Amino acid sequence: MFDNLSDRLGNVFDRLRGRGALNEADVREAMREIRVALLEADVALPVARRFIDAVTEKAIGQDVLRSVTPGQQVVKIVHDELVEMLGGAAEDGGSAQAEGLNLNARPPVVVMMVGLQGSGKTTTTAKLAKYIREKHGKKALMASLDVARPAAQEQLAVLGTQVDVATLPILQGQQPVDIARRALESARLQNIDVLLLDTAGRLHVDQALMEEMKAVAGVSAPTEVLLVVDALTGQDAVNVAQSFSGEVPLTGVILTRMDGDARGGAALSMRHVTGKPIKFAGTGEKLDALEAFHPGRVADRILGMGDVVSLVERAAQTIKEEDAEALARRMAKGQFDLNDLRMQLKQMQNMGGIGMLAGMLPGMKKAKAAMAQSGVDDKVLVHMDAVISSMTPKERARPELMNARRKKRVAAGAGLDVQDVNKLLKMHQEMARAMKQIRKMGGFKGLAAAFG
Ligand code: GDP
Repeated sequence: MFDNLSDRLGNVFDRLRGRGALNEADVREAMREIRVALLEADVALPVARRFIDAVTEKAIGQDVLRSVTPGQQVVKIVHDELVEMLGGAAEDGGSAQAEGLNLNARPPVVVMMVGLQGSGKTTTTAKLAKYIREKHGKKALMASLDVARPAAQEQLAVLGTQVDVATLPILQGQQPVDIARRALESARLQNIDVLLLDTAGRLHVDQALMEEMKAVAGVSAPTEVLLVVDALTGQDAVNVAQSFSGEVPLTGVILTRMDGDARGGAALSMRHVTGKPIKFAGTGEKLDALEAFHPGRVADRILGMGDVVSLVERAAQTIKEEDAEALARRMAKGQFDLNDLRMQLKQMQNMGGIGMLAGMLPGMKKAKAAMAQSGVDDKVLVHMDAVISSMTPKERARPELMNARRKKRVAAGAGLDVQDVNKLLKMHQEMARAMKQIRKMGGFKGLAAAFG
C-alpha cells in the first residue's frame, strides 16, 4: 500500500532533515517534489494542489524555519495534512465510533452495499458481516438482491457459511425490492441486529441501476449505504463514487484491493473529491482481510512511521501477554538474542508473515529489503526455527559465538546449509539494530507520541 509515495516522500524528508537550517527556497523545492510524488500516486490534481498550498503556508511560517529542528517540523506538518486529506482526525474518533459504522439505531439496522460488478462487493459484504459479528458481537443476516448476475445469490450463501453468518433463503424469480422486504421481515422475526443487503452491480453506472438502488433504499431505510470500489482503478474509483453519491445517500466508501495498490490515488483523493469518508479497506482475498480505515494510522504508514497502533492491536490478538511483557522488558534493556528472535518468528507466523509485519513496523523497511535480498520469505521462517532449535542455549543467548565450526554443526543438525545459518544470523543483526532504533526513539510508546 502506498509504497511508491512512501519511498518518494522518504527521500524528500531525508534531505530536509539532513540540513540543519532551512530557508523558504528549500521548503518550496521540497514541496515541488512532493507535488510530483502525489501526482504520480494518481492523486487528483485539485487535491494535490490544495495539499501543497496548505503545507507550504504552514511550513514557511517563521516559527518553523527558525526552530531547532525545521526538517522534523515540516514532516509533522505534512503528516497532519495527510491525515486531513485522508479524512481527518475526527474519523479516528473514540473506540465505539472507531470504525465509523452507525450500528446503534433500532434493530434491525440495515447496511446497504452498493457498487459496480467486480468491485469486490459480495466478498466485502461477507467480510463486513464477519467483522460485525466478531468485533461488535452483533447478530447479522445477509441477503443478496443481485438477480442480474447468475449465481450471485448462491455466491453469498457460500460465503455466509464460511463466515458463519446466516443468509436469506433464495426464492427464484423474486425481484430486488421484494427480496429487501422479505429480508427485513425475516430479520425482525429472528431478532437480527444488522441486516446487510448486497445489491446488484453493473458494469457501468447506469440509470436503471440507480433507480433500483433508490427503490431498495426506499423500502429498507438503510442506516449505512456503503459504496464498494476497487482502489486499483484509481481516479475511476473516485468518479464512480461521485456518480453514486449524486443518486443514493452514501454514508461511506469501502476501498477494496488496497493490498495490490502501490499508488494510493483513490484513497488519497476520495474524501476531498466526494466528501465521503473511507470507512474500511479490503486488504486481500481472505475473508478476514478487512481493516477499519484510520486516517491517522494510514498517514503514519505512508510516512514510514509504521502503523504502530495497528501492529500493537494485531499483536495483542496473537501474542500471549507474558511473552509480550518479557520481550518488552528485554528490549528496554537493549537485549535481543536468538531466543527473542525465535519468539518473534513464531509470532510473525501467527500474525500473517513477514511482509505484513515489516510494512507496519517503523524502521523495518530497510530490514525488510535486506530480508528480501537474502531471500527470506515466509517458508524460510520454518527453516530459521529449525536452525535456532539446533543451537545450544549458550549459542542462542550469545550469537556472536557462532564460528565456522559451530555453524557447520548447527546446519547439519537442522538438515540445512551453512548459508541458511548465515541468513539467520544476518537477520538477527538487522532486527537487533531495528530494535535499538525503536528503543532510542523511546520505545513504541515514545514513537507513537512523537507523531500523535
Ligand atoms: P462483485 O462482483 O463486486 O461482487 O465482486 P466479488 O465479491 O465477486 O469479488 C471479485 C474478486 O475480487 C474476487 O476474486 C475477490 O476475492 C476479489 N477481492 C475482493 N476484495 C478484495 C481485496 O480487498 N483484495 C484482493 N486482493 N482481492 C479482493
